[in-house]
Amino acid sequence: MKLKLAIGIGALMASNTAPAAALSDAIRADMPQLMTLYRDLHANPELSMQEVRTPAKLASEMRKLGFDVTEHVGKTGVVAVMKNGPGPVLLIRADMDALPVKEQTGLPFASKVVGKTLDGVESPVMHACGHDTHITTWLGTARRLATTRDQWSGTLVMILQPGEELGLGAKAMLDDGLYTRFPKPDVLLAFHDSASLPAGAIGVTRGYALANVDSVDIDVKGVGGHGAYPQTTRDPIVLASRIVVALQTLVSRENSPFDPAVVTVGSFQGGTKHNIIPDDVKLQLTVRSYTPEVRKKLLDGIARVTRGEAIAAGIPEDRMPVVKVREPYTPSTYNTDKLSARLLELFGSHFGSDRVVEAKAVMGGEDFSQYWLADKTKEATIFWVGGVPKAKWEAAGGDETKLPSLHSPFWAPEAETVISTATEAMTIAALDVLKKS
Ligand SMILES: [Zn+2]
Ligand SMILES: [Zn+2]
Repeated sequence: MKLKLAIGIGALMASNTAPAAALSDAIRADMPQLMTLYRDLHANPELSMQEVRTPAKLASEMRKLGFDVTEHVGKTGVVAVMKNGPGPVLLIRADMDALPVKEQTGLPFASKVVGKTLDGVESPVMHACGHDTHITTWLGTARRLATTRDQWSGTLVMILQPGEELGLGAKAMLDDGLYTRFPKPDVLLAFHDSASLPAGAIGVTRGYALANVDSVDIDVKGVGGHGAYPQTTRDPIVLASRIVVALQTLVSRENSPFDPAVVTVGSFQGGTKHNIIPDDVKLQLTVRSYTPEVRKKLLDGIARVTRGEAIAAGIPEDRMPVVKVREPYTPSTYNTDKLSARLLELFGSHFGSDRVVEAKAVMGGEDFSQYWLADKTKEATIFWVGGVPKAKWEAAGGDETKLPSLHSPFWAPEAETVISTATEAMTIAALDVLKKS
């Protein structure tokens, strides 16, 4: 009986079940402290490129864990480095900005913060994209890796990035010497909470994961005048309407059905009064694609259709529409083949295949793409961790259109599950990349 038990334990120790259980237990023990941090971050969100309190707080926590910490990288970013012997350099990124959204979750720690966007617009502020779960997971992972230094070898570069929602922060950190002042990473990892997966599920997309995002402004000019005398005008409202309709054919008629693309006119502004034909209308578009070829086709098409419709409407040459593609755009995010396949396998064997899915790509954008685009010889993956409370997921029958999306004032992920799952996933991914040879 005694012998049998000894063999049983020996067998258990030999598999990875014992370390896996030890990791889960350690994270469970960390959770009360991590949840206190999460609730504090959620109640105190900061707008893009204006993060001050968050990086200061986290920098101090990372110093306590023994990281070598540099603040104000790319304006408000934090770089925390831990050198732990020979081996690869692993970068783990969390984004830390919130959104100009008025929180309506009803949570006891809901944000009441009001801020001013970089454009000077005053707005309530909310962590409506779940970046507070990312920051908390980042610290949870740092804590696990700092306390298990005997189990890995290599260099850890943990970065807290500002301004993801504006697509500015990753570029700002790279431009500020992320790859020259600090150890240059071989492998790049990040995660995002998901409103399209039940809490605790993990999704890994292989290849293109998120889209190129372009914001386009079109100033449709006309010749204004009295609404009762249209013959004396060139009506920009009718012209802009035609442009909006004609733009619909870029995706439906000019693009291959096998190449994902989106052209959305999200804003149409013009006119002041019933009986005045205005002299201009302003359109705002979001344009999405994966490949550089499709991106070019869409942007060229927008310029061509807009000009063509203006010519058809008899607009004089000096009043042609002005199309402006805003800089910088957010490039598409590519999960490299080797790393994304490895993570699917690793997460599947650790969490069980019922919790891990190969996720479809989405047309949202992420400036995590910039880190890999700065050196495409490296391996990179951003994965998803589901945040929809199980009861809500089941009530909606898994139909995400019946659930609040990311950026919704009602988005309240099941934070405890997101953070514990993501911390465990990120830690085992890091231990795999930095395993002792
Ligand atoms: Zn977002
Ligand atoms: Zn986000």
